[in-house]
Amino acid sequence: MAKAKIGIYWAAACGGCDCALLEVDEQILDVVAAADILLWPCAADPKYKDLREYKNGEIDIVLFNGAIRTEENRELARLIREKTKYLVAFGSCAQSGGVIGLANQSSKEEIFSTVFGDTKHWPQQNSVADGYELELPEFLPKLTHLADVVEVDYVVPGCPPPKEVVSELFTALVDGNLPQTGTVFASSKNLCEECSREREQKKITQILRPHEHEPDPEKCLLDQGFMCMGPATRGGCLAVCPAANMPCTGCAGPTANVRDQGAAMLNTVASLIGTGEEGEDQLEAEDAILAQFDDIVGTFYRFGSATSIFKERYHEQNSPAR
Ligand code: SF4
Ligand code: SF4
Ligand code: SF4
Repeated sequence: MAKAKIGIYWAAACGGCDCALLEVDEQILDVVAAADILLWPCAADPKYKDLREYKNGEIDIVLFNGAIRTEENRELARLIREKTKYLVAFGSCAQSGGVIGLANQSSKEEIFSTVFGDTKHWPQQNSVADGYELELPEFLPKLTHLADVVEVDYVVPGCPPPKEVVSELFTALVDGNLPQTGTVFASSKNLCEECSREREQKKITQILRPHEHEPDPEKCLLDQGFMCMGPATRGGCLAVCPAANMPCTGCAGPTANVRDQGAAMLNTVASLIGTGEEGEDQLEAEDAILAQFDDIVGTFYRFGSATSIFKERYHEQNSPAR
C-alpha cells in the first residue's frame, strides 16, 4: 500500500496541539511507517512555496490546529484546503476558536494596547528596518475558526485533544479506514457519562472556584458548587479533569446535538440554582448565588465564545458605528 501523505499545520496556536500528537507514545512510529509527513512547521522548516507546488488534492490529510487570527492564517487555510483531500480541525482553536477566541470580547485596539502599550510600539503592517522592507500579515478584526473559512472534513476536539481520540484518528489513518466525513473523533455522549463521580443533581447553594475549597473526591463537582461543564461537554477524554479533582472547563466542545455549549450549560445551571425552597422570597437568595459568578463568559464559553450565538461583545455588535 502506498504511503499516505499527511500534513500538520498550526495557525494561531500555542503549540500544545502539536505536542499532543506525540502523546500517543510508540503509536507515532506506526504513523511514521505508514505515512510521509509533507508539512509540519513545528518540526521542520518547509517553505510556503513548497506547499504551493503540490498538486491540488495531492496531500491525503492535514491536521490543522489553531484559529484564524491573521490574514496569513486565512490564506494558508485556503491553500491547504486546495492541496488536501481531507482537512481535520484539530483542537478547540481550530474547531471553535478556542480559549484565544475570548479575545473577541475586546477590540483590536484594546488588545494591542494591552500587549504593546503606547501606539508608537504597535506593530505596523509595513515597515522598513536597515533598508529592508518588512510586511506583516494583517491582524483580522475578529478571530474565527477553521470552518468559517474553508470546508472541514473531520473534527478532533480538545485543548489539546486527549491521547485517546488522537490514537483513534491515527488508527483510522494507518489502517486506511477513515470514517465518513463530518465525523467528530470523540464520544457523542456527554462527559458525565464517563465520569465516575456520584451525581445527584442537587440544588446549588454556592458557587465555588477550585482554589476556594477542597472538593469531595467521590461526589459530583457540580453538586458541590464547582462549575463543572460535564453536562454540556462531549465525552472522549475519560473525564480526566474531574478524576484529578478539577472541574471540566469544556474543552471538548458541545455534545452532538447542541448548538451552543455555554447556553446549554447555563440552562443546566439555571435549573440547579436555588435553596430548594419554593416561593417569591427565594428569588433574592437565588440572585445572591448568581452574583457569586465573576466571569460568566470565561466560565461557560471558555473554548467556544468565537462560535457561540453571541460571538463577540454585545455592545459592539449593537453600536451605531457598525
Ligand atoms: S486547542 Fe489548546 S492546545 Fe491546541 S492550539 Fe489551541 S490553545 Fe493550544
Ligand atoms: S463532576 Fe462534572 S463530569 Fe462528573 S458527573 Fe459531575 S458534572 Fe458530570
Ligand atoms: S474533562 Fe473537560 S476540560 Fe478536561 S480534558 Fe476533558 S473535556 Fe477537556
